[in-house]
Amino acid sequence: MPKIDPSLINIDNYPCLPYPVENFVYEYGKEVFKVEDNELFCVLCDCKVRSQPKICVILHMTSEEHTQATKRHRQKKIEESDRNRERQQEIRTFHKELCEAFIAAEIPLSKLSHPTLRTFLEKYTKNPIPNQTKLKRLYEKSGGDMSRCDYFFDSN
Ligand SMILES: [Zn+2]
Repeated sequence: MPKIDPSLINIDNYPCLPYPVENFVYEYGKEVFKVEDNELFCVLCDCKVRSQPKICVILHMTSEEHTQATKRHRQKKIEESDRNRERQQEIRTFHKELCEAFIAAEIPLSKLSHPTLRTFLEKYTKNPIPNQTKLKRLYEKSGGDMSRCDYFFDSN
């Protein structure tokens, strides 16, 4: 949004139209605005925003404070997404190495269905333990050696 110099705008020249305050939430999204007690709040700046006349909202949206808050919010979302991607990769690696460890020790993966072992592993590794069928699919997808797998995956 292009910058507007607030000193060049006289708010009194703008009419207060019957524009429901909720419309700003629909227009800009719940990540930007929320309504409390019929008042508009900017979620990004954590402040109340005057909603009438409508130009006040536009002035807020183009303010330096809001622009910076938007940049911080976008950066935070990128970092969150990077962390999620890293976490997913970590879980895939864990599942592959879990299969490899069980196969190397000649322990059927059906043993992972035992509630005590499952709870123990989930508690201390902070990783989910999928069921055998899903684990086999994940192991295969991660390039695991399937040649010795049938016994370890299918016996009960
Ligand atoms: Zn704001």
